[in-house]
Amino acid sequence: MTEKKYIPTIGLEIHVELKTRTKMFCDSPHDPDEKHPNVNICPVCMGHPGTLPTINKEAVRQVLRVGAALGGVLAEHTHFERKNYFYPDLPKGYQISQQESPLVRGGQLELLSSGKEIRIHHVHLEEDAGKLVHDKKTKSTLVDFNRAGAPLMELVTEPDMNSAAEAEEFARELQLLCRYLGASDADMEKGEMRVEVNISLAPRGSKAYGTKVEIKNINSFRAASRAIAYEIERQGKKLAKEEKIVQETRGWNEVSQRTVSQRSKEDAHDYRYFPEPDLPPLILNVIPEFSENAIAASLPELPQKKRKRFKEEYELSDEQTLIFTYHKELADYFEKAVSELWEWAADTGKGPTVVERYRLTQLAANYLLSDVLGLLKAKGMDAADVQITPENFAELVKMIYRKEISSRVAKDVLTRMFAEGGDPSDIVAAEGLAQISDTGALEDIIKKVIVENPNPVADYRSGKTAALQSLVGQVMRQTRGGADPEAARELLRRALS
Ligand code: MN
Repeated sequence: MTEKKYIPTIGLEIHVELKTRTKMFCDSPHDPDEKHPNVNICPVCMGHPGTLPTINKEAVRQVLRVGAALGGVLAEHTHFERKNYFYPDLPKGYQISQQESPLVRGGQLELLSSGKEIRIHHVHLEEDAGKLVHDKKTKSTLVDFNRAGAPLMELVTEPDMNSAAEAEEFARELQLLCRYLGASDADMEKGEMRVEVNISLAPRGSKAYGTKVEIKNINSFRAASRAIAYEIERQGKKLAKEEKIVQETRGWNEVSQRTVSQRSKEDAHDYRYFPEPDLPPLILNVIPEFSENAIAASLPELPQKKRKRFKEEYELSDEQTLIFTYHKELADYFEKAVSELWEWAADTGKGPTVVERYRLTQLAANYLLSDVLGLLKAKGMDAADVQITPENFAELVKMIYRKEISSRVAKDVLTRMFAEGGDPSDIVAAEGLAQISDTGALEDIIKKVIVENPNPVADYRSGKTAALQSLVGQVMRQTRGGADPEAARELLRRALS
């Protein structure tokens, strides 16, 4: 109800930990998987007096690439600033960040579901803080500084979203973009991507925004969506009772599934930003790798373009396209296999008819998206780890297409290939799995099945047509899945009539 009377306005601030070898301002290793605390540290990231920071070039380059992919304006020169605040996981007592001159201004990201463009306000570069580890046993708090000084990209959107679904979609799309660029794995569970939500409600038709509330501590897409839904409800109820909304920072509590007031919102001037005196200004347009051309040339095909191309080039469904785009490596694999198949279709002498190409493509897509993806997920593996070469996978598709093996056998062969690699024709030959389409051989087996299964046979003859399925099942069992089920059904029907 409240959702109709009041319109929510949502902006996001998203922090993404960049995938670089070293930290933002020193050469301590940056390794998000390091489990042993306080090993990836040095006097610079620990804020020891007399130490000096140096700028990580690769981190700057990655932010520029994200900016270019979003269609933003890349800075020609920029500088870093100190953002002063005290927190136990911040050894220097300030964070080196950017306020006045972010690396990227503007840009936009389109939501796939609606085509709505969400504008980007800016993208800047800063350093991360360490981690506080609350130890329940000793009732103490420990500090792990491995993450202190890690390169962190901050992206701020314009308040262009109006629902939890739109905010979630934006965050997912940005995550995918970061992965395509190799800028970050942006895994929310690992804290590599952190979403903060700014949300206000205003009466429908009102030109002014309502009072803004910020939500922090969100560590999954689902939590983001729920936190927003909760705030829409909470603020709507308050407004309906003509109560004031307090401008504040609230935290999402996963256990109670509520937002909880944390502190009243500080303003930028509370941080006493000032130019970082230990770093020179960064003049970007004299560095060849940072030129617009070099950055543009370094971009891979981006998700949006890939979706379009996959639909057009391979005539895949929306769903198939979405899954392939999400699993970029599987999509690359698919393209290699399909190129083999199309070449083969062109070589068979019959010419690459549209129908053949379409059927081969669909077979390849289906076996990859159901069977191979299923096996990958079950083993917690990446498409990059698949042992089957695209050539051998294409070979298997050809065998299915030529009906040399049944779909049942194809699944088994694929599972074997997944575990051990190898050529599908070798596996089929070694195991005697070739499809029994030889009618004579199949008829002998069918005779045997009819003799051995008098009950379903009687059922079928008395009009219970469903009994035929159990007889087909028997034939499949006897042939270890090697029979073509359609042929078996037809021969059984004939034998029993
Ligand atoms: Mn920040």
